[in-house]
Amino acid sequence: MKKLLSTAAIAVMMACAGGNAMADAKNPKIGFSIDDLRLERWARDRDYFVAAAEQQGAKVFVQSADASEQRQIAQIENLISRGVDVLVIVPYNATVLTNAVREAKKAKIKVISYDRLILNADIDAYISFDNNMVGQLQAQGVLAVKPKGNFYLLGGAPTDSNAKMLREGQLKVLQPLIDKGDVKVVGKQWVKDWSPSEAMSIVENALTANGNKIDAVVASNDATAGGAIQALASQKLDGKVAVSGQDSDLAAVKRVIAGTQTLTVYKPLKLIASEAAKLSVQLVRGEKPAFNAKYNNGFKEVDSVFLKPVALTKANIDVVIKDGFYTQAQLAAK
Ligand code: BGC
Repeated sequence: MKKLLSTAAIAVMMACAGGNAMADAKNPKIGFSIDDLRLERWARDRDYFVAAAEQQGAKVFVQSADASEQRQIAQIENLISRGVDVLVIVPYNATVLTNAVREAKKAKIKVISYDRLILNADIDAYISFDNNMVGQLQAQGVLAVKPKGNFYLLGGAPTDSNAKMLREGQLKVLQPLIDKGDVKVVGKQWVKDWSPSEAMSIVENALTANGNKIDAVVASNDATAGGAIQALASQKLDGKVAVSGQDSDLAAVKRVIAGTQTLTVYKPLKLIASEAAKLSVQLVRGEKPAFNAKYNNGFKEVDSVFLKPVALTKANIDVVIKDGFYTQAQLAAK
């Protein structure tokens, strides 16, 4: 019987053992499941990702869960049944995708965690910016203008593993100053869904509770920084209180120029998107991607790629122009 197997049949069997039986290595199908396309950065991630993947011969199916974990799970199931070869996921909730990932793996689909880590699941790779470093840059940025005083820690969404990584990075820088008594943390809170309006009311309450005596708000992204600055503005404290952020959203970069936001962090989205597209295609083709780290997600040490974030202040604002992220005209427009 064995003797009857043709060379072609053996080749097919070997291909099946090595990966997705249906995988078309030349033109892979990628499912890109994004938490929330309503936020500026993720729409850019999508555009850069689709362009880079198509250049490599892949086809991309994009889904946005608009901050609903049920919708994201349903969309992932849908992408699995459509027969994608690889799933690239920006999780809304880091802890609820264990089963969805198991289903994908059963169907021999590779799974990549994009920007945010999926916890407790058998994912194949994780690509992000170094979030601990982003947190450090945020704390260093506000300390550069407020080396002492009352600090409020405005965290990200409690469902997002990045929020905790950022907080760890922030505290790495702040803790020695807290211990010395230079910095007093007058309050801290996570912001549900990274919502600007939620951030605004948290900071309003914090100002009231502290008789407006807040020197710095360590905000974990630009959306929440925007909410914080609105709350500060209604007390005429915008520009006086140091505020951090990240993403280099257009509105945030304008606030940095205007002096109401101390810094943002620039994460070159074209880089993460094109590296992720390359990684997706490599995994389907059975090639070995160049990882630069391992990160434990509670299930295993995940092969990871960490990219470098850059602090952006008024002093180096031209970085985003030189990189083609914005034109001069966009930054100058009112
Ligand atoms: C990302 C940030 C983003 C935030 C809100 C985080 O996981 O790293 O860039 O601002 O989610 O969408």
